[in-house]
Amino acid sequence: MSSVDIAQIPTPCYVCEEQLLEANLKLLRRVSDESGAKVILALKGFAMWSTFDLVGSYLDGCTASGLHEARLAREEMDKEVHTYSPAFKEEDIDEIAMISDHIVFNTPSQLQRFSTRVKALNPSVSLSLRVNPEVSSSPVDLYNPCALYSRLGTTLKNFDPSLLDDLDGLNFHALCEQNVDALEAVLLSLEEKFGPYIDEMKYINFGGGHHITRNDYDVDRLIRVIRDFRTRHNGIKVYLEPGEAVGWQTGVLVATVLDVFHNGIDIAILDISAEAHMPDTLAMPYRAEVKGAGEAGEKDFTYRLGGNTCLAGDVMGDYSFDEVLKIGDKIVFEDQIHYTFVKNTTFNGIRLPSLAIWRKDNSLDIVREFGYEEYKTRLS
Ligand SMILES: *Cc1c(COP(=O)(O)O)cnc(C)c1O
Repeated sequence: MSSVDIAQIPTPCYVCEEQLLEANLKLLRRVSDESGAKVILALKGFAMWSTFDLVGSYLDGCTASGLHEARLAREEMDKEVHTYSPAFKEEDIDEIAMISDHIVFNTPSQLQRFSTRVKALNPSVSLSLRVNPEVSSSPVDLYNPCALYSRLGTTLKNFDPSLLDDLDGLNFHALCEQNVDALEAVLLSLEEKFGPYIDEMKYINFGGGHHITRNDYDVDRLIRVIRDFRTRHNGIKVYLEPGEAVGWQTGVLVATVLDVFHNGIDIAILDISAEAHMPDTLAMPYRAEVKGAGEAGEKDFTYRLGGNTCLAGDVMGDYSFDEVLKIGDKIVFEDQIHYTFVKNTTFNGIRLPSLAIWRKDNSLDIVREFGYEEYKTRLS
């Protein structure tokens, strides 16, 4: 349950609740302790580095998608750093080699191009290849790494056993917001396609998309599935790299009503933007929950909630409330800590929401505020 005192929050602001984040981390730690898998944070989904002391006290490190995320992982958590990229650039690879513990290549050609070089720079680095198990039940193609013509990972057809000499592990990432049954289907396909190679590896990385901290996730079955997999493959090391499951339901985005008017329907303009601050509500798309609000028509007063940019479609949706909305009212969007501020833009010059942590002692810690500089410095 949220304990944030919304009245104290200056808007716009993302508020991560330390207590809820820690509850997620404890559950992920239990998966790790009971299954023997290592769990690392995927920075792509959650990168509030002011929480990384806490995150690093439960998880084993971070997974990064390129140089910048790898640097952040090294600078702010300094545990295991796994770096993957659909394609590494010549100018980045040396620095990546120096700060990474694991480097994951997307294709045999990338592996062949860079493996000798990164090993020379960092002899203890582990090398892996991302394979594509070609099975996924991901809900939408935008988030399906195994869709037809996927550019992510090496299919069995493109795999050559001669690569094995250079490899310590194999990675896959095939899930999105899914339960353990989806993982089991992927593992079946992985073992069918790559089974003989798995036993030659030191580790297999099961990627992300495991919705472990969602209420209905079958955590005990995940632990069994990992243990069984490890037993079938001589105790092989397993990694999980969730992003969303770390930040899942750990906080809110708080906005203020700036104006209310009527144009066929009642409309409220907020000091945030769906496009700039809640992009998955438009891209996935999905409807964010608003605290205390219902579906359109469910409660007495229905409003279309819209953002403060000039994009016509910058709309969060239609929500109903028990009371009339007034200028200055706060609107609280639930579960806005993953895949939100990591994707924010300064589109239309709109101010980026502040980042805050609601501490366990019920104090508010505003860790970052943004202004005009963030807009200007990204342009010239
Ligand atoms: C996005 C991604 C993750 C994290 O996925 P979640 O759905 O946030 O758990 C992990 N590994 C890779 C390779 C990814 O691309």
